[in-house]
Amino acid sequence: MSTKSSGSKVRYAVVGLGHIAQVAVLPAFKTARNSEIVALVSGDTRKRKALGKKYRVAQAFSYDQYDQALSMVDAVYLALPNHLHKEYAVRAAEARVHVLCEKPMAVTEDECEAMIAAAEENRIKLMVAYRLHFEKGNLETIHTVKSGRLGKPRIFSSDFAQQVKADNVRVTEPFGRGGGPVYDMGVYCINAARYLFGAEPTRVLAVSASYLERRFRKVEEMMSAVLHFPDERLASFTCSFGAADISRYTVVGTRGVLTSDPAYEYAMDIEHEVIVGGKKSKRKFAKRDQFAAEISYFSDCIRKNRTPEPSGLEGLADVRVVRALYESVRTGATVALPPFLRKKKPSIVQEIHRPAHGKPKTVNSQSPTRESA
Ligand code: NDP
Repeated sequence: MSTKSSGSKVRYAVVGLGHIAQVAVLPAFKTARNSEIVALVSGDTRKRKALGKKYRVAQAFSYDQYDQALSMVDAVYLALPNHLHKEYAVRAAEARVHVLCEKPMAVTEDECEAMIAAAEENRIKLMVAYRLHFEKGNLETIHTVKSGRLGKPRIFSSDFAQQVKADNVRVTEPFGRGGGPVYDMGVYCINAARYLFGAEPTRVLAVSASYLERRFRKVEEMMSAVLHFPDERLASFTCSFGAADISRYTVVGTRGVLTSDPAYEYAMDIEHEVIVGGKKSKRKFAKRDQFAAEISYFSDCIRKNRTPEPSGLEGLADVRVVRALYESVRTGATVALPPFLRKKKPSIVQEIHRPAHGKPKTVNSQSPTRESA
């Protein structure tokens, strides 16, 4: 544990005050009661001032002053674009500051491994912000699949899409810096296929497609992927930045089908429909503050010296699949994945409930058209 963590609450710096920081991370601290924001890090003086005032955070720093911010906190919440995750995580680790990093963990396997190594060497906690690992609807799907109610799970399929504006960082950064729909939305589909099958894919195949539009000059508009899992199971998904909002997955077993729609959201209810033996049942899981849940959990791990899960390895497990998908698009061939031992998977006992909050007004924030990935 960081030597600075002596008070009753874990003290955070929120780094990068863009869309997700403003609509979800900063407001979450109200109900993440074991945690407090003591510093903001942003390149925008207006945001530093306005958000410092709104959330009563006295200390605000530019990126050049990151080391100063690190010197006064126990943990950072990294809400930066994907290509900056590694640098800011490693620097925090070297300052003995715990790291809660937004998904995707980083751009390459090497970056993920550097983050894991820095965390181990400096004995700090590292967690990837997979908020759905604490959310009831997704955990209930895992429970239903594990219970055998659907028979043996055979097929996972998913669509996750949104319309992204031309000036959003999701399309202005090339895939080599973590731009594009697979790093942004596809990781949720990969993560869900992995937690619902309780296994790691062994080979993948992918195809991408794009309309000729200005916003798709640097990244593909969409990608469809097929993931082969042990025991002859298949997962497929399509993620897109140029289609109407959809956030759905279906698990088909030998006896029944579960569809979650929406499945991946944080700003609306999660819904399920289960059909077994011709009988249909529906369930709704009320919107909750998924960010407060993950922050509370991470702080608890810091205070009790427990290893957080979703760990760095969980982040790496998805990033290696993303990279294999791009390799498959490039070569037009199936790409084999080396064995990856990952026994820990989310389960229903991880559920943490924190009440939902309203949508805050944002400052200089470039939002995608929806609240999702
Ligand atoms: P935004 O583009 O809205 O915000 C990113 C912020 O990072 C910017 O506003 C800026 O903040 C800061 N920044 C620092 N350097 C740069 C740079 N070179 N280029 C652009 N911005 C920079 O992105 P999001 O908030 O949507 O996404 C941030 C991270 O959160 C991503 O990793 C994304 O995948 C993840 N995310 C997770 C979600 C979830 O549900 N868990 C949902 C949405 C995003 P400032 O002006 O303060 O310096």
